[in-house]
Amino acid sequence: MTVLNRSEQPMATLDPDMGRLVHEAMDGLGIRTVNSAEVTKVLTGPDGRVRAVATDAEEYPADVVVLGTGVEPETSLAREAGLPLGSYGGLLTDLGMRVRGHENVWAGGDCVEVLDLVSGRMRHVALGTHANKQGQVIGSNVGGDYATFPGMVGTAVSKVCDLEIARTGLREKEAREVGLRFVTVTIESTSRAGYYPGPRR
Ligand SMILES: Cc1cc2nc3c(=O)[nH]c(=O)nc-3n(C[C@H](O)[C@H](O)[C@H](O)COP(=O)(O)OP(=O)(O)OC[C@H]3O[C@@H](n4cnc5c(N)ncnc54)[C@H](O)[C@@H]3O)c2cc1C
Repeated sequence: MTVLNRSEQPMATLDPDMGRLVHEAMDGLGIRTVNSAEVTKVLTGPDGRVRAVATDAEEYPADVVVLGTGVEPETSLAREAGLPLGSYGGLLTDLGMRVRGHENVWAGGDCVEVLDLVSGRMRHVALGTHANKQGQVIGSNVGGDYATFPGMVGTAVSKVCDLEIARTGLREKEAREVGLRFVTVTIESTSRAGYYPGPRR
């Protein structure tokens, strides 16, 4: 299997040293990862079936192509309605998930931008965990109760087979972009508390 990746590393949501561990884990599974490789074409044979994908530099033969190219908010309806959108194209709401400046319009989930509590900037992070909480907040507020979604800190957990991966907060690049001073440290520890079964280094 070959993964063509436009970014410089698999899982660009991680710092490069952590991304390298993911790359190595994929190597270990026999998955070839080509970084900085932007797919520009999917090529078909005379029978109409896929035969390869291509970057500007090379062709990669393929029997099956799986595309995973990211998520953008589809807010054209909101745009046409004149609702406020942020720099990622997501709807802007207040903390109660009411669309800013519109008394009776609410929005949550993949179509909204959320406040990053570490950087103080609005971001678009399409996660079910946000959508779920925002839906509950909207339900409460529409029903006359009071609830807020104050923001997020960018936590995500994933796996590449046996390799457990988690992140939270900002990458070094993001901290630099918002002018935060930081130090970095690498520690080795177990993947879960010792009293849980199966902790691993
Ligand atoms: C492969 C995959 C894995 C994921 N894994 C995770 C995970 O592990 N953890 C996590 O937190 N998140 C995960 N997510 C993200 C999560 O699924 C989304 O963030 C979440 O579903 C967003 O919820 P939503 O309600 O905003 O949108 P959706 O769940 O997409 O719901 C939108 C609904 O609106 C309907 N719709 C669209 N247009 C119209 C229209 N014009 N009229 C009527 N209905 C319409 C759609 O049919 C759909 O049912 C994953 C997403 C994918 C694709």
